[in-house]
Amino acid sequence: MKLNILPENPEEEKEGRFPSWLHRKLPPGGQVFKTRGILEKYRLSTVCEEAKCPNRFECYTKKTATFLALGKACTRNCGFCDIDFTKTPKAPEADEPIRIALSVKELGLKHVVITMVARDDLPDQGASSIAAIIRTVRQENPGVTIEVLTSDFSGNLAALDLVLAERPEVFNHNIETVRPLSPRIRHKADYDRTLMILRHAKQSGKVIFVKSGIMVGFGETPEMVQETLRDLHAAGCDIITMGQYLQASTTKLRVKEFVPPEQFKAYETYGLALGVRWMYCGPFVRSSYNANLFAPAL
Ligand code: SF4
Repeated sequence: MKLNILPENPEEEKEGRFPSWLHRKLPPGGQVFKTRGILEKYRLSTVCEEAKCPNRFECYTKKTATFLALGKACTRNCGFCDIDFTKTPKAPEADEPIRIALSVKELGLKHVVITMVARDDLPDQGASSIAAIIRTVRQENPGVTIEVLTSDFSGNLAALDLVLAERPEVFNHNIETVRPLSPRIRHKADYDRTLMILRHAKQSGKVIFVKSGIMVGFGETPEMVQETLRDLHAAGCDIITMGQYLQASTTKLRVKEFVPPEQFKAYETYGLALGVRWMYCGPFVRSSYNANLFAPAL
């Protein structure tokens, strides 16, 4: 069976404009159901489901998923992201850390990726909850490596320090897009604030790798992407991921361009030449895609 991962965009579907490199085969379903079953048992959300990630069948087959902490509705409403928006999110759940930790054990994960919705409603932006999750996952699963993919904490460095104090092996915060498009695509975040967060994480000396990600296909030029790669490198990023933006539902920003695999390769070459340790670029790459690839270096 072929999986057409381009979601609800009926006009484009009618016109048959999906490029060949965005079609691929679905993996067999058995492990997908097992992984989903474990996540449901512990009442956990994943960004894989909430953001309708095109890789979820593949990742679930490999028994991996990215935990979405602090609820499944976000206090921001970015134009690219399909996670539900709310002005009145629920209070953090006290047992969320242990539920995540026990599911990590049952899934047998060696490298755990935890992300979060932006919690602009909380005084610490949700940082203490993420810190508690890191602690509990470690207590229950000695030897695991942990990657956190956080919000920008609205630039609150004291909140960021609460997370860094737990020494996650990888600190990940996405810049998402190039500087000129940032105000339209992530209206409540800020390009320079993201660079400041990444730089602070790197300079803290508390994490092994700093990582960031960018989506392409919003209409950015190669020069804009190259500028972003230079900025991320200067901020101290060890790992940069890059993937094709896909419109997850009709209310989200339209895709302006399907970037061909050769262009991803060119960006990868450019980043490596700058001195970025790992560039992971391709149409299906997401910031948590195959995150355990880098774990052996931890
Ligand atoms: S790429 Fe990341 S978000 Fe997508 S399914 Fe895999 S783990 Fe989940």
